Amino acid sequence: MFENEYVPCVIGAQKNIALIAHDAKKSEMIDWCRENREILSHHFLFGTGTTARMIADRTGLPIRGFNSGPLGGDQQIGSRIVEGKIDMMIFFSDPLTAQPHDPDVKALLRIAQVYDIPIANNRATADFMLHSEYMNSEYKHYLLNFSKNVSDRAKEL
Ligand code: PGA
Repeated sequence: MFENEYVPCVIGAQKNIALIAHDAKKSEMIDWCRENREILSHHFLFGTGTTARMIADRTGLPIRGFNSGPLGGDQQIGSRIVEGKIDMMIFFSDPLTAQPHDPDVKALLRIAQVYDIPIANNRATADFMLHSEYMNSEYKHYLLNFSKNVSDRAKEL
């Protein structure tokens, strides 16, 4: 059906989860992490600098922090998605405040879409996602065959 255009890829049962919250949403993120501590503790957590620090300090959950979002943290998480090191993302963005790093936010959301990464941008979606049956099992999905894409284009263009 896909004729090599797409290749299968498996997200493991234990997920690598990126957690990001804009400033106005950080307390909601902490609250949500506390509420879901038990589930989150079975997975590997990553986050942008300030969000990760606050989650570690206020919930005790182990989490690896990258740079702060406006200082490149969003891009670091985007690059991990490309490398297959982040499986899903909870990103409580602030829809009411302009962000200086809006291009980075857009780039992160775009690359997550390209790599078919589940993304929650509000609490309800995060709840649905975290309570999905796929959280405890492997999930097979199909990604664009990037090497075929490059060799086809290198020949055709
Ligand atoms: P922060 O970054 O966790 O360092 O505040 C979040 C963001 O604005 O992308």
